[in-house]
Amino acid sequence: MSLHGMFIKFYGEPLYPVLYPKMDISSIGFSIWSAEDILKASVVEVTESKCLHNGVPVEGGLRDPRFGCIHDGTCAFCGKTRHGCPGHWGHISFPLPLVHIAMVAPLVQALRQHCPCGVRSKKKVCACGRVKDRYTWVKTGLAVHKNGKVCPPSEFPPEVDRFLVRVLPVPPIHIRPPLTVGNTTRGENDLTYRLVNIVRKTHSLCKALADALPSHVVYERYEQVQHAVADIRNAVGTAKHLHRRRPEGEVEAEQRRRLRQIGRASCRERV
Ligand SMILES: [Zn+2]
Ligand SMILES: [Zn+2]
Repeated sequence: MSLHGMFIKFYGEPLYPVLYPKMDISSIGFSIWSAEDILKASVVEVTESKCLHNGVPVEGGLRDPRFGCIHDGTCAFCGKTRHGCPGHWGHISFPLPLVHIAMVAPLVQALRQHCPCGVRSKKKVCACGRVKDRYTWVKTGLAVHKNGKVCPPSEFPPEVDRFLVRVLPVPPIHIRPPLTVGNTTRGENDLTYRLVNIVRKTHSLCKALADALPSHVVYERYEQVQHAVADIRNAVGTAKHLHRRRPEGEVEAEQRRRLRQIGRASCRERV
């Protein structure tokens, strides 16, 4: 299937093929989006948990007009109408690094292989004679344990930094369109609600750090941010008792849905 055909099927009208003309694809590469890449692609930093104020999008909120244009008017970033604006990414910054829920296995593996002398090996005792620390992932608390005790990511060696989340990409408004009737917003998208939750929890963590609250309070709030960020990726398998779980609202469920759509579209094309 060509890229051309795929976009027509996705959006119903030839919106994207106008921007990206039909082309032959020789290869596609996938890689992890680093914090620098996310910041480079971002046009807005989300700092406000409120989306709308008196029906008007709040600047720095999740409905900031720079996220793209899907209704009447023009985009605040590229100046195009909804027919030309492809949508733009934003980001949320965290004061402390978080574990990326999809990167747990490589993270724990890298930690187990790490030795302060710099030699990486799978052995329990390093060539330098040092007995390595035991690292495990505890699913219920969403935390890495070092020798049976919680080890926050800020204490990890710098080699594993690439598996941690310091900034979270916020998708364009096209990916999380609000529920509107006419020109009035009746509700936000599920993903937007989850992002609002992350911004709120991050605010409370920042406040705890600024007020120099006791370390157990800071860790409690840090845990809440970790849970909120894990939920946006995959709410299945995270602690359910902490919040009311909304089914099928996370990124992985959305990806599964999109893949099923592509599968169905390509089946039809073959017939
Ligand atoms: Zn735009
Ligand atoms: Zn060593």
